This record gives sequence, C-alpha cells and structure tokens, in this order.
Amino acid sequence: MSTLTRVVPAGFDVERIREDFPVLKQSIHGKPLVYLDSAATAQKPNAVIDAIRRFHEVDCANIHRGVHELSQRSTAAYEETRAKAKKFLNARTKNELIFVRGATEGINLVASSWGRGNVKPGDEIVISALEHHSNIVPWQMLCEDKGAKLRVIPMNDRGELLLEEYEKLLGPRTRMVAVTHVSNALGTINPVGRIVEMAHRAGALTLIDGAQAAPHMKIDVQALDADFYTFSGHKVFGPTGIGILYGKTRLLNAMPPYQGGGDMIKTVTFEKTTYADLPYKFEAGTPNIAGGIGLGAALDYVNSIGLDTIAAYEHELLVYGTEALGEIPGLRIVGTAKEKAAVLSFVIDGIHPHDIGTVLDRQGIAVRTGHHCAQPVMDRFRVPATTRASLAFYNTFAEIDALTAGLQKVKEIFS
Ligand code: PLP
Repeated sequence: MSTLTRVVPAGFDVERIREDFPVLKQSIHGKPLVYLDSAATAQKPNAVIDAIRRFHEVDCANIHRGVHELSQRSTAAYEETRAKAKKFLNARTKNELIFVRGATEGINLVASSWGRGNVKPGDEIVISALEHHSNIVPWQMLCEDKGAKLRVIPMNDRGELLLEEYEKLLGPRTRMVAVTHVSNALGTINPVGRIVEMAHRAGALTLIDGAQAAPHMKIDVQALDADFYTFSGHKVFGPTGIGILYGKTRLLNAMPPYQGGGDMIKTVTFEKTTYADLPYKFEAGTPNIAGGIGLGAALDYVNSIGLDTIAAYEHELLVYGTEALGEIPGLRIVGTAKEKAAVLSFVIDGIHPHDIGTVLDRQGIAVRTGHHCAQPVMDRFRVPATTRASLAFYNTFAEIDALTAGLQKVKEIFS
C-alpha cells in the first residue's frame, strides 16, 4: 500500500456511494473491476437505472400530445428534467434548455442553426487547441460552407491556453468563440469566464463545451455569461443519447429551427409552417423520453452528494494519483495544468498505450488508450496516443494503488 497522503472531505463515504453503482461490484478477468474511464462514459447509479425502468414499467407513453393519464405523467416527468437542468446550470428560464442527444448535437445545433444566418465569407470562428473533435469539426464544416476562417488558441507545454495569444486572435471579424470548459484529453480546466468576457469585448458570441465539466464542478451560466453551454447526460451519470443545450433566450429566438418535424410546429399547411415557441422549436420528433427522465434522476443524484464535495474529493484523488504515477520511472504525465480536473493522461517510454491498456485490462483495470477524439492535442504533444485514467467520485485511493501496481506489471512485461 502506498504511503502517500490520502485526504477525504468530511462526511464523504466512498464505500457507501459505491453501493449505489451495481456495475462496480463485478470482477473482470477474475479481478475486481477498477473503472477509470469515466471521461468516456460515467457509470449509472441505481437511482437512474430505476427511473428508466419505472418509466417503461409504469408510465410509458409519448409526451406533449396526449390527454390520457400515461402521456400526462410521461410529459410531467420529462419536463421536470428541464426544470432540474435549469437549476443545474442556473439558467434564467426553462425555455433556455433544449434537449439534445448530447454535447455533440448541442454544438452541431448551434453551428448549423446560428451559423446559417450569422456567418459570412471572411468571418472568423475561434476554437482552442484543446478541443474534442466534436468542438472542431462542426465549426470546420460551417467555415467551409460559408467561406469563413477557423482560428485556434494555442496552448503551452502544460496544456494551458495562452490568453495573450487568444487576445490577438480576437477582432471585428470574430463571430463565435467555442471552447471546452474542461479538456477530456488532458484535464485542463479553462478560465472560461475570462474567455467569455474577452470574446464579448470583441463583439463575439461564445459556446462552452461542458461535456467534461458537468460531472465535476458547479456550473453557473449566468455568472459565466456564456451564450451557449452544452453537456452530455451519459458523462454526468445519466443515460446515453440525451444531453442539454443552454442558450440565451434572445439568441435562441432569433435562430431558425435545427430540424423539422413533429412537435416543433404551431401550424402546418403546404404553403407555410409556423414554428413552436422555445424550447420546442428545437425539439423535432419523439425525443429520448426515458433518457430525459433518467437524466433528471442523475442530476438529483449528483446534487445529493454535492458538486463542491465531488470536486474536493476528486481533487485529492488527482493529487494522490499524480504523485503515485510520478514515482514510476519512464512515465510522463501529459497535461500538467495548474487548474486540472481528475484526468491522468500519460505515456511510458518505449511502451505503446494500447499494450498498456491491454495489460491493465487483464488486471481488471479499465482505462482508455488512443487519441481521445482530440488528435490535434496529441499532435501538439508529439505523441500518437496516451493512456488516460479518468476519475469520478466513486473511485478510491486503493484503485489508484491498483493502477500503479498494474503499471509496474506492464513495465515488467515490456522491459
Ligand atoms: N466534448 C468533450 C470535451 C468530450 O469529452 C466529449 C466526449 O468525450 C464530447 C464533447 C462529445 O460528447 P458526446 O459524445 O457525449 O456527444
């Protein structure tokens, strides 16, 4: 057992919390599962599993259009999640919350719908060197379509954005600044409040990709003054296929619908269609009702622990893990920002990340290896891939010890 310091916030009982996650109770290849891949998708507590099951067993009906009891119940449960998301992000009204499939769809919705009427040839969209592909490609597609230019905020060797370079990129042609709140590949927490303020000073709008922030820290879109903010349900302990896009009312009202179909209309004739008010204008077709209800249960669950407590505990895990991995000869952590979420991305001299991941898997340890959908980040650090251990509040110090022991084994096998 490691002699490194283990600090646990008062009242935080990780073993109690782990009881809520059935998936964590299994063995993989005869070893207890050590799940260190929460940045890819987080595990689901019983509260979420039960909410989805209850919907299918008791309330299942399509929403919004039915007068019968089941439809009323389903609608109420689904819309309740919108109210919970409003609170979770501290939005002004429920109408500013649009249900989407996830952060990817949230970004595509804005790039497509807002971009259609607001970007002209010669305009510029600013993103950062830290982005996930889902906050690069939609903007690239928009720029190609409109003859606009994509500009990229560079970062330093720790994985921190260079704000003085960002300042230089801003100008009268900047229409949108789209950056991630937390980097999935490195864990860097960006100073998004500052980034938004600088964009606004230049007259540009902002979109914050909160996919990796929502599970780890309190978010306040009003305090950030973000114009758009999006996150995925499955990374915040909810189901896949559901997420939230927040947008300021004034901006959403001015944007055309993203998709056409049922539920997003007021009236339809062959000559003309009028669109529904917010938020339904952006919600064509039968949505992921069960997913929406599951997301509500997930937000309740996270709130029951408290995001401040979660952030404090995960910070201790990160400090402990950083020290523990730092003691392994030949291992280099990629991404050493001062402000960091609980992500440990690393390379080991002479051993390919896929080999590391495979050997760890045989020991029951689930990590992610590859480019993490952030190829430009890998290029910046001149590595083809990293091994990434991403932590959540259900992880333990003992699991980090298991990771370090697993890596010693990797080294024995490949040296
Ligand atoms: N943005 C970041 C920073 C991510 O880490 C991810 C997923 O890993 C996404 C966006 C895309 O999320 P999703 O695939 O849930 O739409």
